[in-house]
Amino acid sequence: MKFCTSCGNTVTLQIPAGDDRERFVCTSCEQIHYTNPRVIVGCVPVYEGRVLMCKRAIEPRKNYWTLPAGFMENGETTPEGAARETWEEARARVSNLELYRVFDVPSISQVYMFYRCDLDDGRFGVGPESLETGLYSQADIPWDEIAFPVVHQTLKQYFIDASESHFPVRVSTVERRPRPNNT
Ligand SMILES: [Zn+2]
Repeated sequence: MKFCTSCGNTVTLQIPAGDDRERFVCTSCEQIHYTNPRVIVGCVPVYEGRVLMCKRAIEPRKNYWTLPAGFMENGETTPEGAARETWEEARARVSNLELYRVFDVPSISQVYMFYRCDLDDGRFGVGPESLETGLYSQADIPWDEIAFPVVHQTLKQYFIDASESHFPVRVSTVERRPRPNNT
């Protein structure tokens, strides 16, 4: 951040009084500009035992498969956001949303929340951010072409839980991956 979004003057990084970490503070109007983690909301839409998945049309991870998910918008609840993303990416309406998986990813300041839900009437299409969409059974999922580790973990857990018809909510942390080539 270089300029204040309130008055347009320059900002500097400093620790405000009473705070314990650096923030961008405006040199003119003194507004403190906080940045906080972003929430990604998504769905595990299920129809007759199969899960609705989307092949990504956009980077990152273009051409890889994912669950419908995206950044939460202002003014919506997390299930509303998850349902909205499912409509945007797969032109599918969902109902009976139940919180299923939460992933904290502190290394990139993100939180993922996935909701299990019913795919209404088994109907879906292809939204602008997807190349194709489809309903996949456990055996048919392109396991080697999953876009993100959190999606892989969620799907893997889903089919284990589905075999027992028991879907406890799980919260876990995705640790920073070691990068041996970086100092
Ligand atoms: Zn300012």
